[in-house]
Amino acid sequence: MSKRPNYLAAARAVADAADIVLTTHINSDADGIGTSLALAIALERLGKRVRFACPSKPASIYAFLPRFGMAQTVDNDAAAAAMAPCDLLISSDCGDLKRLGACAAIRHGKLLNLDHHATNDRFGHLNLVDEQGTCSGMVAAKLLDKLDVAIDREIADNLYATLVFDTGRFMHSNTDAAAFRFAAKLADAGVDVSAINRALTYTKKPHDLAITRLGIERLTVDAQEPRLAGIAITRADIAAVGEPEDWGELVDVPRSLAGNQVAYLFREGKDGQTTRMSMRSNPPFQVSPVAQAFGGGGHLQAAGATFPGSLADCLREVIPRLRRQLQD
Ligand code: 5GP
Ligand code: MN
Repeated sequence: MSKRPNYLAAARAVADAADIVLTTHINSDADGIGTSLALAIALERLGKRVRFACPSKPASIYAFLPRFGMAQTVDNDAAAAAMAPCDLLISSDCGDLKRLGACAAIRHGKLLNLDHHATNDRFGHLNLVDEQGTCSGMVAAKLLDKLDVAIDREIADNLYATLVFDTGRFMHSNTDAAAFRFAAKLADAGVDVSAINRALTYTKKPHDLAITRLGIERLTVDAQEPRLAGIAITRADIAAVGEPEDWGELVDVPRSLAGNQVAYLFREGKDGQTTRMSMRSNPPFQVSPVAQAFGGGGHLQAAGATFPGSLADCLREVIPRLRRQLQD
């Protein structure tokens, strides 16, 4: 069904633009930030005027990424309106316009939607959506190839972070030969792979570990379907421990149980009106249909959504759907 990604058309749009703003999804992660920074560095080399706007404050754990200082937080309409218009707005790693938050309002000539999510709704004027891409960083690398930009060390460090993050350190079902070929290419460009892994992994603060402890305390294996396990965190829990900058890989706690096939992390919003859902599965089981049922998206085996209700409502409605995903 999906159209083949048109790298040449995207490269032409980049070549035609003098002023480019990069952006990514809300609560940006290593793929969204790393892809945007890699593109920013490369496009500057091509003589473009480049800015990088994030719809929510990027977590400080990503500060080790080369040129992280370029990121500016644009999390409200006034900040977006205050930005000078650009010729081209490039959204990386984002499946729909809603997830761009205030950055969707940045004035632009054209919008290039660069992504690798199967559920991407093609919201750009140009849609470089490559579902074969292990990470958005890989899509960006192919685009840079078309633009004849060499991958130097700073670009490679950012791209390696996107790859390691989206494959879960080469563990998830998107890890394939192409992922390893990309890794080898980046290692050849000089990436210190171990240093990047450490920066993404061994940089927790005591508060992050308190969140992990809370997650373990709230871990539940489903009574009806033992292959389903997850963590449900109330707004009172979050108020007691303090909201972390980034929820990291807490959903990996239920996932790490022997026999687990579907894992979830549900966290209630401050006002009890919404609940963030983060879900994972092992093939052949899928979680993206459940995310899409609530207006979210992602990949077949890693997806998320914002549930319009309290944690209790979310559990009541979503747990039976997750059980059903295991029935086939
Ligand atoms: P996570 O559970 O780590 O937040 O997200 C898992 C995957 O689903 C990521 O690729 C992420 O971009 C995507 N995702 C998470 N939440 C949403 C959402 O609300 N909408 C869409 N379209 N994708 C989401
Ligand atoms: Mn991604």
